[in-house]
Amino acid sequence: MKIFDSKSDVENYLSELKNDNKTIGFVPTMGALHPGHLSLVKRSKKKNDITVVSVFVNPTQFDNKEDLDKYPQTLKNDIKLLESVACDVLFAPSVEEIYEDRIEAEKFDFDGLEFEMEGKFRDGHFDGVGTIVKTLFEIVKPNNAYFGKKDFQQLQIIKKLVEKHQLPVKVKGMPIFRENDGLAMSSRNTRLTIEHREAAPFIYKTLKKAKKKFGIKNVEEIEAWVMKQFKKHPLLDLEYFTIADESTLKTIKNIAPNKKYRAFIAVFAGEIRLIDNMQFKIQNN
Ligand code: AMP
Repeated sequence: MKIFDSKSDVENYLSELKNDNKTIGFVPTMGALHPGHLSLVKRSKKKNDITVVSVFVNPTQFDNKEDLDKYPQTLKNDIKLLESVACDVLFAPSVEEIYEDRIEAEKFDFDGLEFEMEGKFRDGHFDGVGTIVKTLFEIVKPNNAYFGKKDFQQLQIIKKLVEKHQLPVKVKGMPIFRENDGLAMSSRNTRLTIEHREAAPFIYKTLKKAKKKFGIKNVEEIEAWVMKQFKKHPLLDLEYFTIADESTLKTIKNIAPNKKYRAFIAVFAGEIRLIDNMQFKIQNN
């Protein structure tokens, strides 16, 4: 695997490969890699000649300084994991290399997607995400880029970024990878206390139970039921639960036929904020 920390070096290396008509698949990450990330890398390997992974903890997408300072950084282990799946190129720049002397996000208009859910609770988060992904796309110039549905709102926002800025890249959304007990894999899981780690699968279990009620109970009743489950829970604090239209991300009141819906949840397990989501369909039985 080739490892770069300089924008111009990785750009030059990849532009030669592009001139040879090689296709480039790209997986942007913040590191502390786990099998969820590696599933994106494997998909990219299957579909492209060259796979590039970036590891960069992007300061402008953090609204909480402590979350940024404590974000796990495990580059040596990340390199081992990427080598184990035969990743071709790792781009791991410093903050200065990306932002030079102005650590600031560009402002974006994502047609309102940025004001829902995470946008309500993490001020400026999606401007930071838009800034870094656009910058990385300009450096790597991938044909295809792979994102997890774990961050479903982010995925929809990247699709909007590409559409609005007419960027020449195809954005692919990949399934959520979970631990055996159902907890969505996340770099932040390593920061959970033993008690909170044991409690955290309750999030997935509650989503699954709520899904069973979809189409039987009305949306308000399901939301109230979820809130009640978390109120009773001694270790987990619900920040939001909402059932939304997959394309607009707007909370729904009623269920219409032929639309895709998804439930979104954010929960504090002690100091660690966990998010998850699940497609909701009307059950036939
Ligand atoms: P992150 O390093 O958390 O910024 O994530 C980098 C990419 O990996 C994003 O596209 C995430 O959505 C994706 N990802 C993170 N966790 C998972 C997971 N459990 N399953 C699938 N994709 C994931």
